[in-house]
Amino acid sequence: MKDCIAVIEAGGTKFNCALVTSDGEFLSETRIGTTTPEQTMAEVISYFRAQREQGFAFSKMGIASFGPVDLNPASATYGYITATPKPHWSNTDLVGPLKREFGCEIAFDTDVNGAALAESLWGAATGTDVAIYVTVGTGIGGGIVINGKPVHGLIHPELGHMLLPNRHQHAGACPFHGDCLEGLASGAAMGQIWQQAAETLEDDHPAWQQQAEVLAAMCHNLLVTLSPQKIVLGGGVMAKPGLLEQVVILTTKTLAGYLTLPADMSLKDILCLPGLGNKAGMLGALALTQL
Ligand code: ZN
Repeated sequence: MKDCIAVIEAGGTKFNCALVTSDGEFLSETRIGTTTPEQTMAEVISYFRAQREQGFAFSKMGIASFGPVDLNPASATYGYITATPKPHWSNTDLVGPLKREFGCEIAFDTDVNGAALAESLWGAATGTDVAIYVTVGTGIGGGIVINGKPVHGLIHPELGHMLLPNRHQHAGACPFHGDCLEGLASGAAMGQIWQQAAETLEDDHPAWQQQAEVLAAMCHNLLVTLSPQKIVLGGGVMAKPGLLEQVVILTTKTLAGYLTLPADMSLKDILCLPGLGNKAGMLGALALTQL
């Protein structure tokens, strides 16, 4: 029997499932499409059942999920995806069926809280007391880790929906708030605002300058609110060459010298790309089992 931990990165387009060792070595992995809860959960259960039959023993499972989710252990809907705009997935119990099937201990959190934790344990944010992970992709989400623990509080952070100056008066694409951060700066919002897929926007397109302005306003607000030592900026949109550098320049400008940083540190050291690449999600699920 090989001892390992079951991990699930539950995303809006796919569920990445794997068995990993406690130090992050991947022993087996698969990708399952996010279709309906019934079909996807049945395939997830079938994958892990087959792994058990092949001799992989796991007594712990970590699930890092798209949200919003219910993280309150005292709630009747703990472990559920709650009111998501994703069709079919509102009020879906993720933890319950897996717990009933496998009887193992399950750690559950948002995908971005998981990624923030993994980045703070093994990635770009090691050695920090306050670390933030923001993904700027099809949507925008953010997780926060303070003193080694993901922030829950009332529900969990929803950084993607903060309100920011909308200097260019775009209508915004968020179905709830219009011109919130996600409504202005997610990949989907960029596509809607500019009528062109974000990845096809030319380097000198004004979209990128405006994108950097919005993300700089976000970083400004996060820096003055939570005092993070690292803000890790991940997701497909952040892969645009030069975007991070522009965000650093504009954040420096909006802060206007107000934050006195330690002598050996500049914003270039605080705003950074992820250290764990495309494994951050699954390593996030693993990290949750080690709290
Ligand atoms: Zn919103």
